[in-house]
Amino acid sequence: MKKTILTGLRPTGKLHLGHYFGAAQNWLRLQNDYDFYLEVADIQALTDNFDNPDKVRMNVREITIDLLSIGIDPSRVHLFVQSMIPEIAELTVIYSNLVTMSRLYRNPTVKAEIAQKKALFGNDGESVTYGFVGYPVSQAADITAFSGQLVPVGEDQLPLIEQCREIVRKFNSIYGETLIEPEPLLSPTPRIKGLDGNEKMGKSLGNGIFLADDEDIVSKKIMGAVTDPDKIKKDDPANPDVCMVYYYHKLISSKNLDNICSECKKGERGCVACKKELIRNMMEFLKPIQEKRAYYESHPELVDKILLEGTNDARVKAKEVMASVRKSIKIDYFDEK
Ligand code: ATP
Ligand code: MG
Repeated sequence: MKKTILTGLRPTGKLHLGHYFGAAQNWLRLQNDYDFYLEVADIQALTDNFDNPDKVRMNVREITIDLLSIGIDPSRVHLFVQSMIPEIAELTVIYSNLVTMSRLYRNPTVKAEIAQKKALFGNDGESVTYGFVGYPVSQAADITAFSGQLVPVGEDQLPLIEQCREIVRKFNSIYGETLIEPEPLLSPTPRIKGLDGNEKMGKSLGNGIFLADDEDIVSKKIMGAVTDPDKIKKDDPANPDVCMVYYYHKLISSKNLDNICSECKKGERGCVACKKELIRNMMEFLKPIQEKRAYYESHPELVDKILLEGTNDARVKAKEVMASVRKSIKIDYFDEK
């Protein structure tokens, strides 16, 4: 029996290189060996985008197209929409009794995201909603609704898995062995940095190259990327380790990487030429993905069909889990025995 994996992404914008190299590339490998549930987490996206439903709605399809374009195979992956599995919402309500408010506020991932929002938007504590603070509970529902055994995550998301494990243990200890305790599957790659040198390339941070960006946009972004600030003239020797252009060369320019590094260190490579080479390589890397995107964009009915079928198929599993949860907490009044 294949082990079950669950992971997801929020339809808050198109996919960027951070998603690809930090997460999705690994999913492409995992889809061959696991029973893989891949969630388009629209309800979670609404926790901090509740006032912009159009954005979330539009990005459900955009993100699906991105996933299909990079090679996620809907015949091997259950690709589904979170809001169309009502069992996830039911489980969230049930689990909310098993978590204290102080435990949620102490969750390091939640804490860091609240701090980031405050830094970006100047929000005070008052504007953090119940839904946002509670999203780890809803994420525990996402995972357990499909009896997820492994959850691919980055280091910063480990506290969310720990929170889910606590909920599962508490549920099982009160109501009897019902739910499976998931384990994290740590991403083999580190967090991908932004064009501005920020530790994270993020959809909401405006520092990313999107898989759908055309050559004009990619050129503008790469031309503005942060390089070694101590390099003033074209032939000054520089330190590639503090240069974002070299950082992205490392991701996609494997053929010429040694040359790029040694020429940069010796002052034999100007930043403009180096950026132009990166733009060429980046467009070459993005070309096959963008060709597939164009195909799916012109076949919206196919995208819808894939999402509908994936969701229907995923719901079968969620219904099974829900039935056993109802039974355990003795609310299976009229369920068939
Ligand atoms: P948002 O700002 O709306 O939260 P996001 O860019 O963080 O968007 P998510 O949908 O929250 O994207 O994340 C989807 C997946 O991609 C998660 O597994 C997340 O850890 C991973 N991911 C996102 N950005 C990066 C990055 N820069 N490096 C590595 N992994 C990333
Ligand atoms: Mg995020």
